[in-house]
Amino acid sequence: MLDLVLPLECGGCGAPGTRWCPACAASLEVHTDEPIVISPRLDPGVPVFSLGRYAGSRRAAIIAMKEHGRTDLVGPLAVAVAAGLTRLLTWGVLETPLTVVPAPTRRSAARRRGGDPVTAVAEAAAVPGTAVVAALRMRAFTRDSVGLSPGQRQHNIAGRVRVRERVSGEVLVLDDVVTTGATACESVRVLQTAGVHVAAILAVAHA
Ligand SMILES: [Zn+2]
Repeated sequence: MLDLVLPLECGGCGAPGTRWCPACAASLEVHTDEPIVISPRLDPGVPVFSLGRYAGSRRAAIIAMKEHGRTDLVGPLAVAVAAGLTRLLTWGVLETPLTVVPAPTRRSAARRRGGDPVTAVAEAAAVPGTAVVAALRMRAFTRDSVGLSPGQRQHNIAGRVRVRERVSGEVLVLDDVVTTGATACESVRVLQTAGVHVAAILAVAHA
């Protein structure tokens, strides 16, 4: 079916004749010392882990999935997330039962594609003892950010994340790309305000 609507090329490197080539699969492999701890500029107050740099085939796959509707890349990215989650459980950073809460995505981008890709990756990862609850929602901008200082912009973004569903027990926030850490920070803050224990953040990539 997908062949009818999508050109058959690797979502990581563009190689023809495959949706996800062995080289790109290898580049997403989670090694024994991964995921790594990262320190985003804005500190959410819980450990932040990343599966790798936002570069190369990892970056291309995330963009293709999010921006170009390549839902066939959910699977390969979920394999990496599952490996990362399993590693964090093995290390004792996380415990089961665990609820995976996808970081909120901008509404417009997600709705256009008929679903949130980060949630799709989380659900496809399906690690035993974990459940996925899309508990966070990001509101559209309600205020024009033109003319605001960086601090005011930060504050503007901060008010946009809402808890829309109750979660209990230990929570891991899953994000696709952590850059400044603003979304991660705000996700953790609103969950903690709602009485949720956030154990860590796992990012598919960090920039
Ligand atoms: Zn490739």
